[in-house]
Amino acid sequence: MREQIEVLVKLQQIETETVQIKSALNDVSQRLEDLDSGVKIFEQTIEAQERIINDLKKQYRDYESNVQLNLEKEQKIQAKLRSVKNNKEYQALLKEIEDVRGKNSEIEDKMIEFLDRMDITETIIATKKDEYINIFERAKSEKESIKQNAEASEKRLAELDMESAEVSGLVDPKFLKRYLIIKEQDPGELAVVPVKDAVCHGCNVNIPPQLYNELFRCDSLRFCPNCQRIIYYIKPS
Ligand SMILES: [Zn+2]
Repeated sequence: MREQIEVLVKLQQIETETVQIKSALNDVSQRLEDLDSGVKIFEQTIEAQERIINDLKKQYRDYESNVQLNLEKEQKIQAKLRSVKNNKEYQALLKEIEDVRGKNSEIEDKMIEFLDRMDITETIIATKKDEYINIFERAKSEKESIKQNAEASEKRLAELDMESAEVSGLVDPKFLKRYLIIKEQDPGELAVVPVKDAVCHGCNVNIPPQLYNELFRCDSLRFCPNCQRIIYYIKPS
């Protein structure tokens, strides 16, 4: 009888471990996806900053060519100035030059502002790229270890499967049936539990003294009157 109990406990351990491993394996693909999407999100923040810097550069180049155009315009006015006939015309051209210079000075102020913004954005990008290397490497090694663990778990599952078949074969079919019925009623719960100091470890309720004595003799399969689990005696502490 004691052997039968031991075999049932063993079977239960195998099943408990199997359930734990399967539930961990269920999370594997989600965990891998989460790591990938963390990296992806970080890549997107860098890409967003790169779009910003490209826009700033483009705008800066536009400013540069506007400044150039205005300088050419000014040169043309200066040339006209040399062949001017009267004072009114002369004053008008001077005014034009003043306007063009005013425009350029406004654009140049903008350009200084853009250089600052470009500097800031470049710094952000450089910092993020440094961080990215770390994030990428960390995710990579985490993914590797998840995959390795999953492989080991698969191997263990196959072992457990074999052990389960082996151990099931050692159980008296009558007992196995009872065990399976209890298991079925409460999947994930223990079906075989020890009784220590007359307390059932399945439900923490005291069992009657008579039953406790019978349990000690260990001559037949016994059940907790409270939780109906298969119970077995272990030495009081
Ligand atoms: Zn109980």
